[in-house]
Amino acid sequence: PAMLGILGGGQLGRMFTVAAKTMGYRVTVLDPDAHAPAADFADVHLCAAYNDPVALKQLADSCAAVTTEFENVNADSMRWLAQHVPVSPSGDCVAIAQDRILEKSWIRKAGLETAPYLALETVEDLNHDLSPYLPGILKTARLGYDGKGQVRVKTAEEARAAYADLGGQACVLEKMLPLVCEVSAIVTRTSAHESAVFPLAENRHAKGILDVSIVPAQVAPELAARAQQMAIQLAEALDYIGVLAVEFFVLEGDALVLNEIAPRPHNSGHYTIDACVTSQYEQQVRAMCHLHPGKPDLLSPVVMVNLLGDVWQDDGGEPNWEVLMQAPNAHLHLYGKKEARPGRKMGHYCVLANTAEDALAQAEAIKDTL
Ligand code: ATP
Ligand code: MG
Ligand code: MG
Repeated sequence: PAMLGILGGGQLGRMFTVAAKTMGYRVTVLDPDAHAPAADFADVHLCAAYNDPVALKQLADSCAAVTTEFENVNADSMRWLAQHVPVSPSGDCVAIAQDRILEKSWIRKAGLETAPYLALETVEDLNHDLSPYLPGILKTARLGYDGKGQVRVKTAEEARAAYADLGGQACVLEKMLPLVCEVSAIVTRTSAHESAVFPLAENRHAKGILDVSIVPAQVAPELAARAQQMAIQLAEALDYIGVLAVEFFVLEGDALVLNEIAPRPHNSGHYTIDACVTSQYEQQVRAMCHLHPGKPDLLSPVVMVNLLGDVWQDDGGEPNWEVLMQAPNAHLHLYGKKEARPGRKMGHYCVLANTAEDALAQAEAIKDTL
């Protein structure tokens, strides 16, 4: 069987590896962490840096195709690999997703709306009139996730102080918008330019980290269809090949603003494993292997709950799984991470029910018993 390569061996890489192995492929994972969650399932674990030339050469020589689960992988490594083996998504697309300034300019170039923002490439850019972006959020252009690298600011003085606190690196100042809710659409686009979009997920966050995803999103069907169409429009504008996650803000009057993208399967798409005809990880395999996308149809309303290290005991003891394991309509997924730290994504569970409301009520009741 063909060998597939993946840069990154976190939980997304682990679920990719399981999907690929299930479909009969072999998998090589490149991840510098000796305990990378994907290593449990991979045929080969290259334990090296993402720009290690020996490891990259081995990937290029042994793999039929390479993908990534980690947007902060070295884009130049992906460009180098692409000279030897098909790589999806492209290093160029990953580089766009790595930089909020590039990302937002591409979103606008695709004809889609972002929050009003000002790119702060250097300290001089702070001399602009900041008032159209206040109150706002100052976000580092690079390496932010789970709300890290973000400061909420009310005044120009606060914005300048926060910019200095972030070390004077490139940032965007983004206007704080009144959100009705947040949703995400995950699109798969193949090299034959076929696209398939999963049902829209409604995402609720706690402390800047995704907490629950509710599917189908409790929004007007017209809005859901519009968000799905926008995700395809962006994938086409980027000539994106692979799985692309698109996060939106929903505003009053059903306006949709594009927040950010991820060049990979997404936490808000974990539900597709348990509740869709095809999972987002199988789609990643299909896209990299030049297969048609699988059907993205939802088989049942579903709620996904993230399990953070916070629900583990202080001594590292596991939560009480009894009620969750007894529920005939719940599915537990653990990522095999040894150390449970607050805020660390250790696993998730999905609850399937006849309605999203029922699934949410049951998911919350289970959470109280952990
Ligand atoms: P992720 O883990 O999703 O990659 P991130 O650190 O890249 O997160 P964002 O998605 O940009 O950060 O923002 C995190 C959360 O902060 C959003 O999901 C939203 O709840 C809130 N937020 C971000 N920007 C805005 C805004 N302009 N107006 C209102 N709320 C915002
Ligand atoms: Mg992000
Ligand atoms: Mg986000």
